[in-house]
Amino acid sequence: MADRIEVQWCTRCGARFTSYEVAGATCCPQCGCSGVPCSTKQDMVIEVNWHELRVLGIWASNFAQKLGAEGCRGAAGKVLGGCGAVSGAAGRLPR
Ligand SMILES: [Zn+2]
Repeated sequence: MADRIEVQWCTRCGARFTSYEVAGATCCPQCGCSGVPCSTKQDMVIEVNWHELRVLGIWASNFAQKLGAEGCRGAAGKVLGGCGAVSGAAGRLPR
């Protein structure tokens, strides 16, 4: 069996895709998110304190909520994958 080489992943749902799976795609094949996906070439391991990460998550979630659905459809929201990117990232954090 050939190795599966993933090239990008969705900021909202976290699904990972090979170049074949996203060839010609205009959104995430799994959840339909139209935000800019993450390149796996930019994945990294960082050292961060759990409390720092929690504080960042809380502030990001509060900001996303403040923007509301309308704000998330704006230019910044599109780059960030809408508010779904924030809730997606926060949801992938271990509890
Ligand atoms: Zn997705």
